[in-house]
Amino acid sequence: VAAPPPVDVDVCVVGGGQSGLATAYHLLRANRRRATPLSYVVLDDRDGPGAAWRDGWDSLRLFSPAGYSSLPGWPMPPWTGEGNPPASHVVDYLRAYEGRYALPVVRPVHVRGLAECGERRLLVDAGGRGWRARAVVNATGTWSAPFWPAVPGMRDFAGRQLHTRDYRRPADHAGERVLVVGGGNSGAQVAADLALADVDVTWACAREPRLLPDDVDGRRLFELATQRVRDPGAHAGVGSLGDVVAVPDVRRARDERGLRAVAMPERLTAAGARWADGHEAAFDTVVWCTGFRPALGHVGARPAGEGDTVVPDGWERGDHAVRSAADPRVWFVGYGDWCGPASATLIGVGMAARAVAEGVARTLPDVAP
Ligand code: FAD
Repeated sequence: VAAPPPVDVDVCVVGGGQSGLATAYHLLRANRRRATPLSYVVLDDRDGPGAAWRDGWDSLRLFSPAGYSSLPGWPMPPWTGEGNPPASHVVDYLRAYEGRYALPVVRPVHVRGLAECGERRLLVDAGGRGWRARAVVNATGTWSAPFWPAVPGMRDFAGRQLHTRDYRRPADHAGERVLVVGGGNSGAQVAADLALADVDVTWACAREPRLLPDDVDGRRLFELATQRVRDPGAHAGVGSLGDVVAVPDVRRARDERGLRAVAMPERLTAAGARWADGHEAAFDTVVWCTGFRPALGHVGARPAGEGDTVVPDGWERGDHAVRSAADPRVWFVGYGDWCGPASATLIGVGMAARAVAEGVARTLPDVAP
């Protein structure tokens, strides 16, 4: 059967998580001011709404209340259970958000690449399906590009190695000795999840993790991000966006189970790990909570090291919107601070999405019908 011909659209948003939906919302708003509205589509490779929030471990909760986790236009409904909302509440919210604004999300569609196709359009190639777009907004997040560091001995280790992305619940590790590696929020929370369920866990970090004071939660981090948008030179004051939020489970694991970080082992061995001072410990499983990189393989991104740009030919920022330095039709939203402070959070992405949607609308001038 011949492949259907590519569909012409003005804007193609790749990725249907919070970043793609927030961008679509702002395109909708930009259209209200246009004589000729822009046509747009959101392509997402999942089977249903919720993006990365579908994949979190069972006990994953937001580090801030619902009121501080809203996308533009419509606040996240309050969570009536205990504590901050679980990931499933975010999935429900994203599903309802799509429906509320009738956002044109097409699933499942995995975008493989972009190619020139004439008339100053880019072919968004999904293998057998295609869209010919005048602008492409990448909003593919990071969850599908887990970062595995290169640690000596990784290949020798005879046990199991997982990434944060594959960790689900302590019951899967009952009776095991688990090494959790990573000093960020994921490392702290996975180590706490295991410790609270009495799994024998060792939490190793390259640097001493900086736990924020107990009364500082995600809200304060968002305030810091907002402050940085207004004044990029502002001193961050208490903590910074890279610090670990002492969510209730992390506090309990620290106070009730004595969870503390240890130094990174020098290398893995067949049976476990060895530290610089020569001592060794046996492990059944290593969980690498070592972060993610932008999922930009479809724009030709290379795997990159810490701090590298993964955008081929670089990127540039104007009016808070980020786009390719080489191709002004290609935009980026939601990948982290290089796309705007806190742009990889629910409440923070709105600002970046608005800047990109308005930037795109400016580059596709309005024409009277
Ligand atoms: P995603 O949610 O990853 O969505 C991108 C979508 O694009 C996915 O559906 C993906 O499958 C799809 N996709 C990828 N590649 C392609 C392709 N080539 N073609 C088509 N589709 C593609 N933020 C908060 O605000 N509060 C929190 O408490 C919080 N906790 C977090 C805890 C953890 C453990 C992690 C990892 C992150 C947390 N975050 C939190 C950060 C942030 O909200 C998420 O990273 C968020 O998922 C980013 O949204 P996104 O839309 O940019 O990406």
